Amino acid sequence: MTPRLSFFGAAGTVTGSCFHVEHSGGRFLVDCGMFQGSKTLRELNYGPFPFDPTAVDFVLLTHAHIDHSGLVPKLVKAGFRGPVFTTSGTRDLLTFMLPDSGYIQETDVERLNRRNRQRGRDTVTPIYTRADAEASLQRLRAVEYEDWIVCGPKVRARYWNAGHILGSASIEIEIEVRKERRPLRLLFSGDLGPDHKLFHPVPTGPAELDYVILEGTYGDRDRPAVSPAGRREMLRQEVLTALERGGNLLVPAFAIERTQELLLDLAHLFASGAIPAAHVFIDSPLAIRATEVFAAHAHSLEDVTAVPAPFKMPNFHFLETVEQSMAAGRIESGAIILAASGMCEAGRIRHHLKQHLWRSNTTVLFVGYQAPGTLGQVLIGGAKSVRIHGEEVTVRAAIRSLDVYSGHADRAELLAWMRERLPIRSGVFLVHGEGDSLRSLRSALLAERLPPDRVLIPQLDETFLLVAGGPPREAEGPRRLPQRVVDRPDWHNAYAALVLDLQHALQERRSDRDRELLIARLRQVLQDHRESV
Ligand SMILES: [Zn+2]
Repeated sequence: MTPRLSFFGAAGTVTGSCFHVEHSGGRFLVDCGMFQGSKTLRELNYGPFPFDPTAVDFVLLTHAHIDHSGLVPKLVKAGFRGPVFTTSGTRDLLTFMLPDSGYIQETDVERLNRRNRQRGRDTVTPIYTRADAEASLQRLRAVEYEDWIVCGPKVRARYWNAGHILGSASIEIEIEVRKERRPLRLLFSGDLGPDHKLFHPVPTGPAELDYVILEGTYGDRDRPAVSPAGRREMLRQEVLTALERGGNLLVPAFAIERTQELLLDLAHLFASGAIPAAHVFIDSPLAIRATEVFAAHAHSLEDVTAVPAPFKMPNFHFLETVEQSMAAGRIESGAIILAASGMCEAGRIRHHLKQHLWRSNTTVLFVGYQAPGTLGQVLIGGAKSVRIHGEEVTVRAAIRSLDVYSGHADRAELLAWMRERLPIRSGVFLVHGEGDSLRSLRSALLAERLPPDRVLIPQLDETFLLVAGGPPREAEGPRRLPQRVVDRPDWHNAYAALVLDLQHALQERRSDRDRELLIARLRQVLQDHRESV
């Protein structure tokens, strides 16, 4: 049979990476990630997999980020019994990231069910629990970069440094195809790091491939090149301005890699006296574990020797317990608080935002990608108030963002990486980006003389036959969601904004009479709508 590649995630959107390959020797996955972003998209995490989990022979993981690995425990819970191949860095990170993700599922669902019961609705069960996640760790098998591994009948794979986070990889795969003299050669880029990424060398990989599956998170963006000194200067400005405003500086940061990058840069700035020695609270047990993994893998990392013991500055405070977190939350000024999650969708950052957003001397500094529909993106969009844990919080804080810490290659770097992979015989699939980003990257690739019928932007759940010599051919299959809802805020976001607008409109009216009139007019709209449907 002609191998079939299905895009069960990160198609026309950034999250939920999951690629399913079926060939005459069996079936395997590249990544098994969780969807993040709008509620519509996140609901896919709760539904059944669009393939039979018990029929999957093995999984190849590109890296530890939850949008690439977060549904592995669900896969194992659903009956998958094969190996999950990862680099040792990824394995060490997953050892605590997956149980932490299970814990988040449990606590989120607990809170949701409390509300569901109050409203007389059905309760839901978590996607997986901490215990499920711990059990799934048994399936992890560590591999070395650049060594071929035989992963199943007729398939072998090789991991290449992708320069994105600790342990991240692009994965080269060879599949034996009957009647073909040579194997079909695929390369999944995984997430690719930028050239000046802290800790990691420039991404590398093989050439002469049949198919390349390329990420395009920043496929429409060329960032000005910023040197490490330039980046630290920008951080210095942000920190000084925030401290001058007299409040705290909150940094929503991904626990893995981003927190360590910030700590290293802050350590530089403190050590040279460029900023006053403010207290830095790292309020994330996950970030603490991750920092330990970074220390353990220091021999394979770059840049960590410039400051002695960069993660152990005397003014760095790692907060483990909820009590410590709450105590830090009571500090009213002069503190720098780093907490996860980076998009403010879960974790301790939400408590800090609730305590800080209404204060006009607070600064919130975003340092990473914010998916559409997330609280982070809503704040960057200039919302005047937001809902956190069911309560309305007014936003008076200064909202800032700094995009020099990206873990992703920009457009020029993606194109440079692609040129080194040439020749590509059959086709390129662009994934892991929003529509505009991927379309822009596609135009850039066409300008490099790749033929239009060989550079494709797959939709969610779309399947292609990987024809040797190309171009790939689309195959029919069911879809879970229409593509138009995949990469944008959904009606839940619109509804939340409407409720807040209504509350404000009512507050601003001069009299109760005005308020009654407004409500009567809205009722009339509802009435008209009922009659029209
Ligand atoms: Zn990633």
